Parts: sequence; structure tokens; C-alpha cells
Amino acid sequence: MKAILVREFGGPEVLRLEEVPTPKPAAGQVLVRIHAAGVNPYDTYMRAGTYARKPPLPYTPGSDGAGVVATVGEGVKKVKQGDRVYTTTTLSGAYAEYALASEQQVHLLPSKISFSQGAGVWVPYGTAYHALYHSAKAHASETVLVHGASGGVGIAAVQIARGIGLTIFGTAGTPAGLQIAKREGAHQVFDHRKVGYQEEILKATGNRGVNIILEMLANVNLPHDTKLLAKDGRVIVIGNRGEVTINARELMARRASIRGFTLWDIMPAEEADIHAGLIAGLENGTLRPIVGKELPLAEAARAHKEILEPGAAGKIILVN
Ligand code: NAP
Repeated sequence: MKAILVREFGGPEVLRLEEVPTPKPAAGQVLVRIHAAGVNPYDTYMRAGTYARKPPLPYTPGSDGAGVVATVGEGVKKVKQGDRVYTTTTLSGAYAEYALASEQQVHLLPSKISFSQGAGVWVPYGTAYHALYHSAKAHASETVLVHGASGGVGIAAVQIARGIGLTIFGTAGTPAGLQIAKREGAHQVFDHRKVGYQEEILKATGNRGVNIILEMLANVNLPHDTKLLAKDGRVIVIGNRGEVTINARELMARRASIRGFTLWDIMPAEEADIHAGLIAGLENGTLRPIVGKELPLAEAARAHKEILEPGAAGKIILVN
């Protein structure tokens, strides 16, 4: 089969399409013919060798795949050959024609969701769901600022929050991103490249501040976020790319808190909760993964460059 292999950590150029043996599922494992693989920012940090998780080399990147079950190993009950599935991490990597996954890592994909959409489910929607429900403990009557609402996690958060009933403020850095955030459910949108946009957000809350901030770039925004919070407000750090200084007094004055998490560390009960919520939302149409761009698997290096560039507009997906 064809697969992207990383033989050394480095820039996007280390992602090379190679011919490798197709894996065979052992007991409790599933082989999936991958039709689409989602590209996530963490894939680029891992490839660079700067991420907290460093896989042994060589490795095939990708946790979010969608496709059809090709074969199953002994004892597998959850899925059968021919089922459409999405993956939540894999054993062998999703940037490939076939991926090996444990039975627990595959989930049935609702029929109305395309493979490219299915490859944009786990990391973006799992993260957004965990942030809103488990971390922020959001209530329908609250306001949420999705700080970075044009990318994978942001769009997912906007759709989930809208489904619950929250009032949503979303930010993006381009007209296309702002339009997507609005179309997917943000009540008001703001340009995070415009000087003074934080004042506009505060004004939109009647100067009360927002109850929840889902933060995609904490190292840039945290000092301002603490001033945008309402009483008992909470910032949920989802994305962060450096160090930052804040004035803790802003938190004290608001009884506010800052929390962070990584999706790798969620508990089994939380994961079960997330899948139940996501499948229901995908089936009833409140969750609609947005595919911004499809690229052939061979162009994984281009996908890794583009995902870190400004101007997000949905997911970048590798198809094969
Ligand atoms: P993405 O699809 O590349 O989107 C990035 C988002 O960040 C876009 O909406 C982008 O907006 C926005 N952004 C850029 N500059 C910003 C600024 N100054 N203020 C606020 N937002 C800004 O990435 P993603 O998949 O949504 O992931 C977002 C971040 O969360 C990444 O850093 C990722 O590594 C992290 N993440 C963490 C977890 C976890 O477990 N904690 C899970 C998933 C993702 P424009 O392009 O419109 O400017």
C-alpha cells in the first residue's frame, strides 16, 4: 500500500509517500481502507519532533481517518467488513491507503457524513465537545467567545454551542473565516487581526464580559482574555504556541479561572460521552464538519505548510 512515512523529524519535506506492506489485523484489530485523513496542527508539531509525544521512527502520521472496514481480526464484534467508519487515533497512522486500528478506535460513520467530513470528526469535535461540556461545564444561558472560530476546533465549537443554546461570539482573521463562523452559528463575529476588536466584544456583551472563552492561541490572547471575562468566567486553553505573562489580579477580581487539557488525556467515561454526543449531532444535523480543502495523499507536505498559515476555513483533508 501507499503511505506517508516520516523517517526523520524535520520540516514538511520529511513527509514522503512510500510503498509499504499492508498491515494485517491481529485479534481485536480492524484494518480500514482509508479514503480521507484529517490534518491537525499537532501532526505538524509531532513531525517536527517538538511535540510532547515523539513516536519511534519511522512512523506514519494521522489520527483522524475515515473509510471502509477491509478486514477484521479475531473476536471483533463492533464492526464488520464493509462498514463505514471514522477513527480516533490508529495503530499504524491514517496518512495511508490502509490503517490498522484497535476495535475501540473505530466508530460507525453516519450515512449522511462523507469520508472527508468523517476525517474531520475526532480531534476537532472531540476537543470542542470536551472543552464545552467537561471543562467549561457550559450552560445554555451563557455566552461563549470562540477565539479562533474559522478552523477545525473553532467551527466544531460554534456548532456544538449553538446546538446547546449558548450565545456565541466568534473570531477569525479573514473575511472568508468570518463568514464561515457566522454561517455555522456564531451570533456575532469579530476580526482578531483588527486593533481593538476585544473592546468591540466587550461592548457586545453590554460590558458584562463573556462567561466562557475557548482559546485557540493562548500565548497571544491570554492577557486580554482575562479582562474579557464575566464574573465566574473561565478560559479554556485549547491551543498554545509559546509563553505568556498575565496579571492574576484580573482573575481574582472576577473569581475567574483558566483551565487547559489535551485530548490525549481524557478519561474513558468522557470519551464515551463525547462519542454519544457527536454521533447524535452528526445524525441530527447540528454537527456538520466543514471541509475547506481536499488534497491528494501525496501532497501531505503542502497540507502541513498550509495548516499553519493564517486564513483557516474549515478542515484540510488528504484523500486517496
Ligand atoms: P486550525 O484549523 O489551523 O485553525 C486555527 C484557528 O486559530 C483559526 O480559526 C485561526 O483563525 C485561529 N487564529 C489565528 N490567529 C489567531 C489569534 N490571534 N487569535 C485567535 N485565534 C487565532 O487549527 P485547529 O485544529 O482549529 O486547532 C486550533 C489550536 O488548538 C491549534 O493550536 C491546535 O494545536 C490546538 N488543539 C489542541 C487540542 C488539545 O487537545 N488541547 C486539540 C485540538 C487542537 P484565522 O486563520 O482565521 O486567523
